[in-house]
Amino acid sequence: MQKIFAANWKMHKTRAEAGQCSASLANALGAGTTASGALVLVFAPFTCIDVVAGAFAEVPFLACGGQDCYPAAEGAFTGEISPTMLADVGATWVLTGHSERRHVLGEDDALVARKTTFALEQGLNVMLCIGETLEERENGQLCDVLERQLTSVFDAMPDILRGNALAGRFAVAYEPVWAIGTGKVAGQAEVLDAHATVRTLLQKLVGATAVDLPILYGGSVKPTNAAGLMSLDNVDGLLVGGASLDAQSFLQIIGA
Ligand code: PEP
Repeated sequence: MQKIFAANWKMHKTRAEAGQCSASLANALGAGTTASGALVLVFAPFTCIDVVAGAFAEVPFLACGGQDCYPAAEGAFTGEISPTMLADVGATWVLTGHSERRHVLGEDDALVARKTTFALEQGLNVMLCIGETLEERENGQLCDVLERQLTSVFDAMPDILRGNALAGRFAVAYEPVWAIGTGKVAGQAEVLDAHATVRTLLQKLVGATAVDLPILYGGSVKPTNAAGLMSLDNVDGLLVGGASLDAQSFLQIIGA
């Protein structure tokens, strides 16, 4: 399966900064030495998507995405953005269910499911983020949380998106909430166990095509731990926040 390295810039970077960083990535990766066969995504702030997409235009395995979207084509939803608007400025991917959306902005599973299915229906590729809080992990609820978060999305999936229709268009990012932006990376045994659980749940939900759906790990990934994480079974890529803000650090992660 094609590996995916994804940067989540969160609420960072002006257009000028985004231009510089994405040009550095495009120059280094376009030269062809680092990414061999991988897909590299940058989830940029809405205001920078056209800049990043423009810088990536000549390199086929680089793409830009939005960090969120609203599940309606248009309407009275002040402050929100539609999948079509994201596509209009050059995004081909969108993140849904990021832990900061769930836990800081209060999004529930039902809203995340609507965002995910609507964005797919509107033609965007989707990276769905799932993961447990520390309290949920300590209470032994890891499997239940992952099952609830995945099932709510697949229950809402229209028939047209079943079967092979998700191949190449949908990825899951397992991001333990307690490891995001905290410097605490999950241990290898914890990552192996959680990713095996996600794979099994996907098999239950979509059948044999689950093997083609990439599962990324996210949470305090750095150049020093990237290779170890990528060596684990069912880890098909990495979603990187803080360490992706600097082009050289993100390139080191991709190269690891
Ligand atoms: C993220 O934002 O998805 C993330 C994993 O952040 P960090 O790498 O900073 O923990």
